[in-house]
Amino acid sequence: MKTIGILGGMSAASTQIYYRVLCDLTRQRLGGLHSPQLLIRSLDFAEIAVLQSKGDWNSAGSILNREALALEGGGADLLVLATNTMHKLADQMMDSVSIPFVHIADATADAIQSAGLTSPGLMATAFTMQQSFYTDRLHAAGLTPVLPTEADQITTHRIIYEELCKDIVTEDSKTAYVEIARRLSDAGADSLILGCTEVGMLLNPENVSYPVFDTTRIHCAKALEMALA
Ligand code: GLU
Repeated sequence: MKTIGILGGMSAASTQIYYRVLCDLTRQRLGGLHSPQLLIRSLDFAEIAVLQSKGDWNSAGSILNREALALEGGGADLLVLATNTMHKLADQMMDSVSIPFVHIADATADAIQSAGLTSPGLMATAFTMQQSFYTDRLHAAGLTPVLPTEADQITTHRIIYEELCKDIVTEDSKTAYVEIARRLSDAGADSLILGCTEVGMLLNPENVSYPVFDTTRIHCAKALEMALA
């Protein structure tokens, strides 16, 4: 089995989910006492979030690049960046890194296409919903993303940063997310991308009435497939 390098901490709440999901999938796949070979580098999200809000993406990209090189040097055979938003900086992160990168949007687009669906709703941070680095990859895969209304984008983003990234889960926010998901379906979405690695803390196939694509779970499954190839 190859070693999966996880660049995480963005946030720590979802990096814990990556660890759990990768362990569960490996046990399901290989049985017995098997567990995945991982190198996890967990950053302090407070520092990254300040750079995001200042729009200092170049400094954030330098940090990601430094840490990706360290994971490669430490023995990772492939790299997972455990956040959708920071995929904005994927190219800068992978500069001079030679091990493969598992792109979260591409893995998700593949899963949606394989299910024969075309118009995914996208619930994510404002950066991921409003900038083109993510939706461009969905369009390139032949998908037509459906975005929440402006008010629903604000609510989605606020709950991610004020609650989910701090490991806070409330019934009120779950209800708000379920309603946003329903409105996306009304607006024509045939599927729903949980496009932030924490959104699965509130939404799942049990409380959304149409197909759900959780980027965290898809990303883990893709990484494990590559690690076992
Ligand atoms: N984990 C998040 C994501 O998947 C949001 C935190 C971040 O900005 O990295 O986009």
